[in-house]
Amino acid sequence: MGETSRPWRVVAVRRLSEAQLAELSAVADVEYFEEVTDENRADFLAALSRAHGLIGGKLELDEAMLTEAPALQVVSTISVGYDHLPLAAMNRRGILLCNTPNVLTETTADTAFALIMATQRRLVELANRVRDGEWQTHVGREHFGVDVHGKTLGIVGAGRIGAAIARRGAMGFGMPILYTAASSKPELEASLGARRLELDALLAESDIVCLSVPYNDDTHHLIDAAALARMKPSAALINVARGKVVDEPALIEALQRGGIRAAGLDVFAEEPLLARSPLTAMDNVVATPHIGSATHETREAMAQLAVDNLVGALAGDGPLTAINEDAWRKSTVASGGAR
Ligand code: NAP
Repeated sequence: MGETSRPWRVVAVRRLSEAQLAELSAVADVEYFEEVTDENRADFLAALSRAHGLIGGKLELDEAMLTEAPALQVVSTISVGYDHLPLAAMNRRGILLCNTPNVLTETTADTAFALIMATQRRLVELANRVRDGEWQTHVGREHFGVDVHGKTLGIVGAGRIGAAIARRGAMGFGMPILYTAASSKPELEASLGARRLELDALLAESDIVCLSVPYNDDTHHLIDAAALARMKPSAALINVARGKVVDEPALIEALQRGGIRAAGLDVFAEEPLLARSPLTAMDNVVATPHIGSATHETREAMAQLAVDNLVGALAGDGPLTAINEDAWRKSTVASGGAR
């Protein structure tokens, strides 16, 4: 990418700090949308059609929109997951896709653990009873929870976030750790005594099953009716991955008939979760509105990394974290660097 084609044009979707906007503006003309709505969608598409770079969270982008964005070279998503973006089409076009791993790992693991604590100890259900004036007498067996410490924790997808959840479980709560992953994790086995199992065996042995896989064709409905049937009736399912990793109707059915005891869910097949979903009304479900990384500190760090990625890519220094840097670099070389 050469000096001659500056200034770059960038479309930003999501609240960025003044310092971050200033950093972007130093290398590009920035068209800023706090969010894309039905009212401003035409303006957004017009801006995209001129843009070299796009940055934002929950970006809505499909192959047809890429076709209408001939200058687009870099998409910088403020998320680690990129299942909502058309990666294959971006690879064909040599468009770089940057994401924000690592900076959200510990916070998302904290969220998973909050859901573990809440489902095991029935925190939301029982706190609501206090709020509703229903605490009239001592709590009896019908309101007891189950322990967290010492229970077997099964991590489905022991990557960055899964490993951070495993560390909390093993080191903070004395939990035996089971895991699945595409490849074995000797460091988790050595440091935490974690055991790698096939998914079916992990589901059968775990007291708490925690999902932290990426969503893709291989993980679509990884937890379906058959998988749920392998879990202990006393077990809880925690999902901080993506909603469609779970067959949601099958999960609802399993929770309703006692096939599993409880679920702690941060992500859903359709978001926002519809108010009429049975999941909103079940005492054995703790549902949070996709807040895995939603703390002030972490969202700031994610936005900063996304800005640094975009600026680095446009300026030619390269991104800090990207999904398809090889495809992008090959395409940059193929186009003689003039893109
Ligand atoms: P990561 O480091 O890439 O970890 C993903 C793990 O899943 C890896 O260990 C990978 O195995 C494993 N894996 C991939 N396909 C699998 C399969 N079919 N079966 C079993 N394991 C499989 O990613 P991360 O940073 O931990 O993030 C994980 C996901 O969490 C993201 O993709 C995102 O969707 C979700 N997330 C959600 C929130 C939220 O707000 N709720 C926040 C952040 C992230 P290998 O290590 O062997 O490759």
